[in-house]
Amino acid sequence: MRIVVLAGGIGGARFLRGLKEAVTPGGGPPPGDADITDTNVTDVTDVTDVTDITVIGNTGDDIHLFGLKVCPDLDTVMYTLGGGINEEQGWGRAAESWSVKEELKAYGVGPDWFGLGDRDFATHIVRTQMLAAGYPLSAVTEALCARWQPGVRLLPMSDDRVETHVLVEDGEGRRAVHFQEYWVRLRAEVPAQAILPVGAEDAAPAPGVLEAIAEADVILFPPSNPVVSIGTILAVPGIRQAVAEADAPVVGLSPIVGGAPVRGMADKVLAAVGVESTAEAVARHYGPGLLDGWLVDTADADAVPAVEAAGIVCRALPLMMTDVQATAAMARAALALAEEVRG
Ligand code: GDP
Ligand code: CA
Repeated sequence: MRIVVLAGGIGGARFLRGLKEAVTPGGGPPPGDADITDTNVTDVTDVTDVTDITVIGNTGDDIHLFGLKVCPDLDTVMYTLGGGINEEQGWGRAAESWSVKEELKAYGVGPDWFGLGDRDFATHIVRTQMLAAGYPLSAVTEALCARWQPGVRLLPMSDDRVETHVLVEDGEGRRAVHFQEYWVRLRAEVPAQAILPVGAEDAAPAPGVLEAIAEADVILFPPSNPVVSIGTILAVPGIRQAVAEADAPVVGLSPIVGGAPVRGMADKVLAAVGVESTAEAVARHYGPGLLDGWLVDTADADAVPAVEAAGIVCRALPLMMTDVQATAAMARAALALAEEVRG
């Protein structure tokens, strides 16, 4: 079975860990920092023998810092599935130290609001060095994944530069800021008037993206941000159409539970595109042209008839990714709904 998942950062990565568990129960621990010659590691790749999972990752959050190319969402997926994530934070490396950041600060060199730890820096140095040598981001991502063995094929949505900017207005005036400045420095507290995926219209899907969508047996939208993660991926010319025209059923899981995001500030960017923060409104935002099935949390069971009236088959079940088993149950429900709506 070939599964394609369009993923952002933390929500997407945690869902993928549950999906891997659902398709290959007890598929072995991720390799983490283990030496890649360690014999235990070979078990992990068995996941792909049974089911092939291709992840199309958001790169609209990418940012250049200190001369380095940082891809937060790709790295969150890679570290989470590879056993290197800081579990509490949900992003960045486990057992991280911050010497480089402190040294930069001593030089008065910022920005200091974006957290880059020492171990994480190494990833961005390797990536930047390979890009400078002429490798496309997709090849660089594959090379980084050779260490982490995420057990999925991780593709950036595009090899071309796409950067989400947010049009805001505050005491400093009306201006467009980089998504990370809006999200991390301003904590989405400044009203957003528009979300602009700069460069998207001239971007091309990365090699393998359209093929994976066309050949998929199931396409899943995990509980990722519908605007700045999945929305940005769909903004790359060709991807939305490929998903809409794919033979495979498309099933999504709501990132909005009980009228609010489970974590983060998705409500702010939904408001900026005129979408209410409800499980029903997000389903309608994607629409029946894209979605065949939609899962909402039991807290939103009331929304089921309205989503179905909009032409999307809908079921309610617990959607909190509290641990891997709970998340695996969500993934199994998504695959079951895909079977139900197929054909
Ligand atoms: P980001 O790039 O780190 O923001 O991550 P994503 O785009 O993948 O997704 C973040 C979204 O996941 C947010 O809108 C959250 O509301 C949602 N989310 C996080 N944890 C959960 C959970 O346990 N259940 C559900 N249903 N949604 C979640
Ligand atoms: Ca993100």
